[in-house]
Amino acid sequence: MRVITYVLGRSRVSKIQQKFPKTKKFITAIAISLGIAGVGLSALASANGTVNWTGQGTSNGALDTIECTASNTSYLLWVFTLGGGNESVTSATLHLSGSGSGNFPMVKTGHEMKATTPYFNLSTLHANVTYVGTLGRGAANLVISHGCPGGTSVTSTILKDSSNNIVLEGSSVPLGSVIHDSATVTLIPSAVPTGSVTFRFYTSSTDCTADTTFNGGTTMGTVALNGSNPGVAEPSTATSALVPGTYAFKAKWPGMTGYTGSISSCETFTVNKAQLGVNTTVHSDAPDQALVGNLNLGDGAHDSAAVTGGVSGFTLPNVTFYFFGNGVSCTNGSTAGGTQLNTLAPDVNGVAHPSTSETALAAGTYNFMAVVAGDNNYLGFTSDCEPFTVNKAQLNISTIVHDAAHQDITNNSVALGSVVHDTATVTGGVSGFPVPTTVNFTLTGNYTDSCSNGSAVGNDGIELSGAYKSADTSALGAGNYAFRATVVGNDNYLGSNSACEPFSVNKAQLSVTTNIHDANHQVVTSIATGSVVHDTASLAGAVSGFTAPAITFTFYTNSLCTGDGTSVANTGADESNSSLVRSANSAALAAGSYSYKASVAGNSNYLGDSSDCEPLTVNAFWCSPGFWAQNYQNLVGTDYDITSILGVHYNTISGAAALKSGAPADPTIQDMLDAGASVYGGPAMNSVADYISAHFGWGGTSATGDNCPIDAHGNFTGTLSIQTL
Ligand SMILES: [Zn+2]
Ligand SMILES: [Zn+2]
Repeated sequence: MRVITYVLGRSRVSKIQQKFPKTKKFITAIAISLGIAGVGLSALASANGTVNWTGQGTSNGALDTIECTASNTSYLLWVFTLGGGNESVTSATLHLSGSGSGNFPMVKTGHEMKATTPYFNLSTLHANVTYVGTLGRGAANLVISHGCPGGTSVTSTILKDSSNNIVLEGSSVPLGSVIHDSATVTLIPSAVPTGSVTFRFYTSSTDCTADTTFNGGTTMGTVALNGSNPGVAEPSTATSALVPGTYAFKAKWPGMTGYTGSISSCETFTVNKAQLGVNTTVHSDAPDQALVGNLNLGDGAHDSAAVTGGVSGFTLPNVTFYFFGNGVSCTNGSTAGGTQLNTLAPDVNGVAHPSTSETALAAGTYNFMAVVAGDNNYLGFTSDCEPFTVNKAQLNISTIVHDAAHQDITNNSVALGSVVHDTATVTGGVSGFPVPTTVNFTLTGNYTDSCSNGSAVGNDGIELSGAYKSADTSALGAGNYAFRATVVGNDNYLGSNSACEPFSVNKAQLSVTTNIHDANHQVVTSIATGSVVHDTASLAGAVSGFTAPAITFTFYTNSLCTGDGTSVANTGADESNSSLVRSANSAALAAGSYSYKASVAGNSNYLGDSSDCEPLTVNAFWCSPGFWAQNYQNLVGTDYDITSILGVHYNTISGAAALKSGAPADPTIQDMLDAGASVYGGPAMNSVADYISAHFGWGGTSATGDNCPIDAHGNFTGTLSIQTL
């Protein structure tokens, strides 16, 4: 047996392209020589032997395809040249190894034996022929006449999520994504691919790349192509909901007659962790609900956290709560400074509730914060600060004004000079938070409707009732007043002003009583003509510490104090009684009617008064019948009969004047005349008549106008006139 180590034969061998560029020129030369002589390397004739083909392919993968049909059926035509002439080979078998393992019987045609094999990659192909018989004298060659490599294919894939949205190579998808693959098989030359595509899925890019034999990972189904050009096979079996990581699909189409199969490249994608969020809501403890407005002093609160971003099927991590006390700085997303509270697993709705309650809270501003942890599936998150406020409690203060006997005088009146105090009661305290004890009082004088400008009044401890007590006022002048009390707030309480608590101090009522004095400080209401008098007054109702106005006197020349009168000076204490004040002396008064009145004016503390009108009568010195009897004729001549005048006009003298035994108790002038000297007669009668005239007057007021020309001492004063009665 001879071994032919490198054989190129027949005219068509020129179509076999060498993979070694440096031999190409040589091959061309050989081809030319073959075209002339048809002779290559020769093998010596021998019985039953082997001829090797060691051609190792071509320089660019091309082969003589001139006889390839449109079907792109791949084949190689092998020709074993028996050596020409007297050969006796009866059978031969082509043996392929390497990429084309197999045995192929050869068929004799003339001086050649031929076999057709599928197309194989020449670069990895090894062949030889074993034959039975004896070769001829010429060269024995094993050559590839020509062949068709057949079509190729490209299998590409497109990943899609459960919504059939395309997932680009190398991109990321959310936690829990469900991915499937779609394969497209494109044939070259163009044709409709048939058969099915098989998908595989890998849990790392490396695993995919390493699986060159397409048997690693997980089978994700075999899907028939859809008969289109290019063909599509989809969907692959979908993944389960994927946890974070890097994954890859690839697909294989096994090929079909005339076309080689292909495996797609790895199509990788990444499943990201899901970013969680936390929204917190402060809850009041009672009721347990989202806090409305602010908490009240002493209330309690807790937090509720709603975790967002969770993915169905992937359990949420636990939530841990933090608390920032009153005034503690809180920064969104940072637990620095906070106090860790409890940790809870979110419920099916993603809500972690309740946090530890923070109870009996003082007034101020606080924050809760919630942190959801990260894990294999999730990126954790720290919430924003969740601020809430506990309000100060509003204190209230009410007051009651007391008099010195602790009786309520609020909205009432008290007497001038009263000493009062205020009392105040504070309410609105919250258990556990001491109520402020600073209570201030003010007193507003000349109160109208505002206490804002009151003057401070000191404190005087606590009354029996438990109320705060102000200091006592001084003795108060008349007017309107109001107390107000203020309780001063603190960190937990809002202070408060009481309402104005008004009261009034009444003016005191003065009263004036009077008497008219004669010159001897005797009280008189009538007096003889020519007398000098003065008025006296006594004042009542004055209050110690509040000076009453001075008394003024008015003198009237009538008995009823009518008209303006004449002001008379107040000259101070009366000589008879220092508790009285007196007026200046009158002039010597003529007969007639007079009156005095004393007054005291009002002022800011007192109501004034005027005395009653005090009438004073200054009597005329009536001329007595004796006067007339002795002087009438001298004064008026003889034209008038005195007896008849007396009889007509003076017979109605009344009064009791029993001067002498036997005298009538109520004598008339006629009685006196008739009784004669034994009773009234002579000088006695004159004296009696004078007395009666002076002290009792005539029976009627119509006679008061007489002007007797006799003074208080009985002396005639000069002019006599007679009035018609
Ligand atoms: Zn009191
Ligand atoms: Zn007097």
